[in-house]
Amino acid sequence: MKRHVVLELSGIERHYGQGETRLSILKGANFSLHRGEIVALVAPSGTGKSTLLHVAGLLEHPDGGDVVLNGNACNGLSDDRRTAMRRSDIGFVYQFHHLLPEFSAAENIMMPQMIAGLSRKEARERASALLDYMRIGHRGDHRPAELSGGEQQRVAIARAVANAPLVLLADEPTGNLDPATAHYVFDALEALVRQSGLAAMIATHNHELAARMDRRVTLSDGKVVEM
Ligand code: ADP
Ligand code: MG
Repeated sequence: MKRHVVLELSGIERHYGQGETRLSILKGANFSLHRGEIVALVAPSGTGKSTLLHVAGLLEHPDGGDVVLNGNACNGLSDDRRTAMRRSDIGFVYQFHHLLPEFSAAENIMMPQMIAGLSRKEARERASALLDYMRIGHRGDHRPAELSGGEQQRVAIARAVANAPLVLLADEPTGNLDPATAHYVFDALEALVRQSGLAAMIATHNHELAARMDRRVTLSDGKVVEM
């Protein structure tokens, strides 16, 4: 049986600058992510991991090639349509949590759901369930600054999956944490992805964590290659 491809990158090009100073980061990168799998993206700093994830997550336009999300080619879409697809189909976790500082942990998780049209009550219930799942149910009323680094990342992960996306993209989500905390946060992330049947691509420098994923890829000369 053919496995369902939820995210396909096809011939992705990304260049910065012009003329003499032009820097080619992605040079015809191809990649397919299948439903239910977790793929590690392991490559040295500066090789284009964040660039690839930003393009895959519809946060940046590629200079060539296309992103196909659940069978829908994104190239010719309007910005409004891309934004709508990003909100419904993609969850993104950054190395630094990027939570809104003025809002509580629970409110940060409620926000994308309310933008998607859920009532405050529905959003609060789901936020509460996700916080419990991430074992920080008692921290929902706290603002990000009152949480530890590991707790902040667990809130950021909960926020990323709040709208039940198809794909979770994580850019060195545990890169800023001490090894024990990184392990704990990664366990929670993995359990959540496995339990929900999401597909995930996770950039990491941690080979031990990468070894636990279903597949490992790297970037070589601007292309994605299997490890
Ligand atoms: P990684 O995440 O693997 O460390 P990045 O995708 O962040 O790599 O960056 C890849 C390369 O592209 C780096 O050399 C970086 O300096 C360069 N780069 C990233 N963003 C920009 C930008 N907006 N303008 C110019 N160069 C950039
Ligand atoms: Mg990066």
